[in-house]
Amino acid sequence: MSLVIVGSFNMDLMSRTPYLPSGGETVLGGPFKMGPGGKGSNQAVAAARQSAEVILVSMLGRDSFGEKAADMLERENIKTEHVFFHSTESTGTALILVDEQSENMIVVAPGANLCLSPLHVRKAEKDIRAASLVLLQFEINMEATIEAIELADKHNVPVLLNPAPFVEFNPAILEKVTYITPNKTEAEGLTGIKIQGEEDVLQAAKKIYKKGVKYVLITLGSSGTYLYSGKETGELIPSFAVNVTDTTGAGDAFNGGFACAIDLGFSVKEAVVYGQAAAALSVTKEGTSPSMPTKEEVEKFLK
Ligand code: ATP
Repeated sequence: MSLVIVGSFNMDLMSRTPYLPSGGETVLGGPFKMGPGGKGSNQAVAAARQSAEVILVSMLGRDSFGEKAADMLERENIKTEHVFFHSTESTGTALILVDEQSENMIVVAPGANLCLSPLHVRKAEKDIRAASLVLLQFEINMEATIEAIELADKHNVPVLLNPAPFVEFNPAILEKVTYITPNKTEAEGLTGIKIQGEEDVLQAAKKIYKKGVKYVLITLGSSGTYLYSGKETGELIPSFAVNVTDTTGAGDAFNGGFACAIDLGFSVKEAVVYGQAAAALSVTKEGTSPSMPTKEEVEKFLK
């Protein structure tokens, strides 16, 4: 089977700086690093490295970053038939500054990501119909995301929504979502509940479940993932203890890994464990896409 991911690509442009500049100030920084990012692309890489057949629906600019992105996606064995190139908008970029205390400042210029329209998504209808799962985030045009949910629903294909970053949206779409994977902040945004302990997580999960989602999975960083599916209570599935190098991309590794495990026919709980193993391995390495583990690495880790 295959996974269809409808989502973003951003080129991450990162520079270290002794301190974050204030208005009008120029700071000499370095070193500079450039790498592929964007939640859609990162989750596609995470899933493709688990040997899943991954079809990405995305919009790049007709520029050098767009070319680099397309090359990277091919190298990762991601199907790019529905990766479009906008004639005037630039490829999405994220300008990231990180100071010596690891404080950061980020400017995301979504560019072409916001030009992916429902029409582009409809071109992938045949692939959506044949998919085992459609995976979505909130870094592209909301109408395109909604179209993907509608098409998946029309063809009875399960939807995994990673509601990141948190944006306001029409909660009616949640009735057509099978799995939702907010982190703590996103779960708070979705529910208005401040999450401070396990009872708050349960209340937040119940509130999201009542909107029509079958499985609520609230990711809680190093504490693990809270799984709720309509019973009296949910279950906190602990994460794996590892030596942490860089946690960026943990959520993307989790979603890509979880989606693959569902594609392989695992139970939801088994898929959470698999996603958490992929995420744990990813935090032991630096970067987002480059830190995504392979299938062999995850299987060895779980033995
Ligand atoms: P990020 O924005 O850093 O990519 P996120 O905020 O979307 O991540 P988290 O809830 O922080 O998502 O992490 C997702 C999953 O990754 C967790 O449920 C957990 O399994 C795993 N994970 C995150 N941090 C760690 C850690 N320090 N050690 C082990 N596993 C971790």
